[in-house]
Amino acid sequence: MKKTPFVTKEQVEEIVKTYPTPFHLYDEAGIRANAKAVQEAFAWNKGFREYFAVKATPNPFILNILKEYGCGCDCSSLTELMMAKACGFEGDQIMFSSNDTPLEEFTYANELGAIINLDDFTHIKCVEETLGYIPETISCRYNPGGVFEMSNGIMDNPGDSKYGMTKSQIIEGFKIMKEKGAKNFGIHAFLASNTVTNEYYPQLAKQLFELVVELKETTGCHITFVNLSGGVGVPYTPDQEPNDIYAIGEGVHKAYDEVLVPAGMDDVAIFSEMGRFMLAPYGCLVTQAIHEKHIYKEYIGVDACAVNLMRPAMYGSYHHITVLGKEDAPCTETYDVVGSLCENNDKFAIDRKLPVIDKGDYLVIHDTGAHGFAMGYSYNGKLKSAELLLQPDGNVKMIRRAETPADYFATFDCFDFKFEE
Ligand SMILES: *Cc1c(COP(=O)(O)O)cnc(C)c1O
Repeated sequence: MKKTPFVTKEQVEEIVKTYPTPFHLYDEAGIRANAKAVQEAFAWNKGFREYFAVKATPNPFILNILKEYGCGCDCSSLTELMMAKACGFEGDQIMFSSNDTPLEEFTYANELGAIINLDDFTHIKCVEETLGYIPETISCRYNPGGVFEMSNGIMDNPGDSKYGMTKSQIIEGFKIMKEKGAKNFGIHAFLASNTVTNEYYPQLAKQLFELVVELKETTGCHITFVNLSGGVGVPYTPDQEPNDIYAIGEGVHKAYDEVLVPAGMDDVAIFSEMGRFMLAPYGCLVTQAIHEKHIYKEYIGVDACAVNLMRPAMYGSYHHITVLGKEDAPCTETYDVVGSLCENNDKFAIDRKLPVIDKGDYLVIHDTGAHGFAMGYSYNGKLKSAELLLQPDGNVKMIRRAETPADYFATFDCFDFKFEE
């Protein structure tokens, strides 16, 4: 499918009069339409809730939009919990899916009334000792080991991942926690990442539904939810077919009717913790070409760098690039599109076929709405960009300002910097 930016050259030329490049831009209309579709796709399940994975796009303005569609927050750290609270999420609207968890974060999550999702068997004891009891509602993260394979050949390796508990640990854990007063139990698993197939959730759901039927039989625990977590992907490359959330919802529904309903478990709520699917396509990084360089390869230097978007440098991820105003120009050139870090992996694209790029051209780097800005760091003393929201009426609202040097130096308050005017 041809990838088209949600913003035009004319719009960007207007925006840069107020907000200089680089910046992350989010498409509010797109976020809203997609959040609505997710709710509709799972409306068949009475207790359904999407807990947006805050780590993907930790911005209170974004969280508040999603909240309007009934979303909760999936938090993994103290500051994410604090942000959820600040946005008015409370109680079971917050899922705390952490790992290697600092004990004080269990305490804070519990104070907020969040559902605690335990990553490890030993955390049962940690939680009991830290809180003085086991919460009434509790969840365990499952890791079946081995490989998780789908019919299109996509697979992931739960056996190599640090997350979750084995089946026998969960059986044992549920028995212990029931004994200690827990009443409502949930199960969680995240077995494959960025799956661009409608099969992942249904296949995972079937596996988890079979597990909870067995758990109910062997432990007598009241299972109240199954958390399918994240992993629903987006098409980063133009040749990929986007997932159809309605087909995914129906696939999970079918597994539910096949496995849970006959077992008399037709009150189990389905939860999800999608990050990427909720936001990635509805954000982009807008950057300007500031240099061209001709050595053994052709380079275009832009004013963004890996600090603004780490995925290409970290994972070698493909992010589609559109040169604004040249959407239909032939891709006659082969460029490496690079940032300014003193790191040779600071390349947004390698050997990419693109139209002729002139200095001053604006480039849209697609699908940065999740795991984009959020992964930013400050290597080379680089500052983080602003985040802007393109509103349905076409106006742009700043939802996070760009960092200034003062932000960079702020944590050196133990040193007396004297900057000349
Ligand atoms: C990262 C993460 C998510 C979100 O993953 P996506 O791939 O963005 O959907 C959900 N749950 C947990 C526990 C995570 O760590």
